[in-house]
Amino acid sequence: MEITGGNSNEKIHWADVCAADVDRGVKHLIATGITPSGPIHLGNMREVVTGDVVYKAMRAKGLDAELIYNADDFDPLRKVYPFLDESYAKYIGYPLCDIPCPCGKHKSYADHFLEPFLKALEELDVKPKVLRSSELYRSGKYTEQIKTVLENTAEIKEILERVSQRKLPDNWVPFYPICKGCGQISNAEILEHDPERHIVKYRCSCGHVDECDYSKGEGKLVWRVDWPMRWNALGVTVEPFGKDHAAAGGSYDTGKEIVEKIFGGKAPFPVPYEWISLKGKGAMASSTGVAITISSMLEIVPPDVLRYMIVRSKPEKAINFDPGMGLLTLIDEYSRVAEKGESREYELSKISDVATDIPFRHLVTVVQIAKDDDAILETLARSGYNVSNRDAVIKRARRAKIWVEQYAPENVSFTVKEELPECAKSFGDEEKRAIKTLVEKLSKVPVWNAENIHNAVYDTGTEAGINPKDIFTCIYKAILAQERGPRAGWFLEALGSDFVIKRLSETVN
Ligand SMILES: [Zn+2]
Ligand SMILES: [Zn+2]
Repeated sequence: MEITGGNSNEKIHWADVCAADVDRGVKHLIATGITPSGPIHLGNMREVVTGDVVYKAMRAKGLDAELIYNADDFDPLRKVYPFLDESYAKYIGYPLCDIPCPCGKHKSYADHFLEPFLKALEELDVKPKVLRSSELYRSGKYTEQIKTVLENTAEIKEILERVSQRKLPDNWVPFYPICKGCGQISNAEILEHDPERHIVKYRCSCGHVDECDYSKGEGKLVWRVDWPMRWNALGVTVEPFGKDHAAAGGSYDTGKEIVEKIFGGKAPFPVPYEWISLKGKGAMASSTGVAITISSMLEIVPPDVLRYMIVRSKPEKAINFDPGMGLLTLIDEYSRVAEKGESREYELSKISDVATDIPFRHLVTVVQIAKDDDAILETLARSGYNVSNRDAVIKRARRAKIWVEQYAPENVSFTVKEELPECAKSFGDEEKRAIKTLVEKLSKVPVWNAENIHNAVYDTGTEAGINPKDIFTCIYKAILAQERGPRAGWFLEALGSDFVIKRLSETVN
């Protein structure tokens, strides 16, 4: 993962740069939005966290600002995604808000994917006003704008063709009725428009001819027109969006001209961002299955660390997310930033009720030693950590446990053997002599802590004339049946003196 700016305290944070560049003296609306067509993944998180970080930077500057999240639940289902069963084929083209939920417990297909995402947002301390495209269209909020679009189709077509350099069909209309015959959001032929009654007469490709009332949401605008229409209708002034929309001739460019010329409005201040890719797998997309959902990531990573991952990189920089060792490194880095406490990156990442300051790496070791919650708390308390906030500590420990199970590389995960392993029953004479000396020293340490244990091993090495590295190997063999393991001092401290002394003694009997 890229680390931006070792001396970040001296630089102006990118969100503060945005906040300094936007217009003054107006009411700001920062818009984020995602189509809930599948599991909402870590890559999508960049959109909302970027919006939230800019929002917080603007508020800190005293600007009048509001953050919204617009769920594009009125978009059609495009295909049967890998995570759906074949029965969904019949819903292709239907608005996501009108398709049954895959598990049967939610109001709709869109809700099925939105609900866990909105919960994750809360955990991430992102608190936008939530809007739904389906409700806005059906409430009549966009009626006047749709009328304007239909009356200016020729000019809109000219803008799209010129700016995006794409030829559109002669009978092109930027409005799709929801066909009353086949139920699909249909690329239908528009036969008539009655602006007084907000009625469009259409002929669907299924053959059905009918009327739809766009003041009741019986149709929607095509994306490239829907977007600028929304800027105008909602009053959007700032918007983060993926780099695909930012390309020359892309939907931001066409939207900018449409909002100015058709609606007499202004395009929002753009905050284009790069993708988050999964190490070794490419950019995350729910349609291809290369994705980790935000919810499953929050089972492992504290939410402030996830925020930090977005906060520390400029939006235009790609993030390559490594859920294995890279994540552990990220968590360590954030702990150091949090300890220092005063950086802008920390201010923008932190979440008010942040759990505990027990290093995640230590937890990764402890959860592999201790069998249950009580044992985890006991082990941590013995090492001098503050465990008075029991729930917070357990929550953090649970994250470490899931990380070990799902993402830890082999050299990090281990099992403490219940009995002396075979490989530790045949140490040579030199090794046995060293272990005997070590056991004596360990029995006499004034306090059972990592530093004293560590020193005991080195003193033994010097006295017995043996490389301390070989002593560590013996220790790991005796406890884990492997030649390497977690940092020994801390590891033995967590295991407790009784266990360690008993186990090491067994190797020399
Ligand atoms: Zn469901
Ligand atoms: Zn139809």
